[in-house]
Amino acid sequence: MNPYEMSAFLCRRFNAVLGCLFWSILLSVGLFNSPFEPVPALANVSTEATPRPVIIATVEPIALLVREICDDSCDVLTLIPKGVSEHDWQPKPKEIVRAKNAVASMAIGLGFDDGWFKKIGTNPKSILWLGPILSPMSWWSDDMTGSAKHGPEATTHKGHEHEHGSVDPHVWVDAVRMGVAAIAVARHLSQVLPAYASGFEVRAKIISERLAALQLAVEARRKSWSSRPVVMFHDVAGYFGRRFGLPILAVSSGSSGHDLSARMMGDMSRRFSTANVAAVVVERDGGAAKNLARELKTTIYVVDFAASKNYTKWDDWYLQVVKTWESILKK
Ligand SMILES: [Zn+2]
Repeated sequence: MNPYEMSAFLCRRFNAVLGCLFWSILLSVGLFNSPFEPVPALANVSTEATPRPVIIATVEPIALLVREICDDSCDVLTLIPKGVSEHDWQPKPKEIVRAKNAVASMAIGLGFDDGWFKKIGTNPKSILWLGPILSPMSWWSDDMTGSAKHGPEATTHKGHEHEHGSVDPHVWVDAVRMGVAAIAVARHLSQVLPAYASGFEVRAKIISERLAALQLAVEARRKSWSSRPVVMFHDVAGYFGRRFGLPILAVSSGSSGHDLSARMMGDMSRRFSTANVAAVVVERDGGAAKNLARELKTTIYVVDFAASKNYTKWDDWYLQVVKTWESILKK
């Protein structure tokens, strides 16, 4: 009888919790292990591969782009964990340690992530600030609460004016800007990891050409969409809206409006009631957004603006945004 059978036998025999516990503990500390458990032979343990250089990207859509440019030459780490709102996140000590090991960082700037990199203590020379080189613009949407706030210093709940509130940092929701970003990322990576430079540049060129074609394809599709406004609870799609002339009424209050007062909600539904709103778009279902959609007799759509699901390329993520807008405006 091997020890497992013995343990089971004794448990049945004595039917006592303590007895079972005793034999289970004996088993788990390995008293009986040696004759029965095969011990892996040392020769079979493979030697660890040399770790690849780590590159940081602040948000997952940028990480998707950087990952494709890197291919096998680096590991890309997204600073904001998947499924976490950029408005609520602050780096934890463990995340700071991980991010410190990065040889380069692809950041937005414009007040969006600057504070996080200061907190991490990233070497400023290793950071590529994408926002300033991607023709940043003022907010596209009509901000209904007058409180467009983003990034670490954001105070979305209190209605204070955000210190960097005049420029929209969400540059990643635009194929044209990401085409430019791909080339800039490759150039930056080539300086840090010159051994892989030719690969970075070839792949970035392929991406920028592919995104230019994608832009044209979406422009062609857009011709059959209406121009009815969409209400959003996180003002994240400004560059997308501007690119295709799509009106957006933004509420700028987190992802589903959970922090809006009843008075504010009533005020908005009155204002939106004459706007012929096509849909309410949120990143997570629920909250005040549901009530607003009900009052406006319109549909609520959940769009993954943070690429929190698994995508292999930036294009795959972007196309789910495009397809949702298409289904809203083709109704
Ligand atoms: Zn945002």
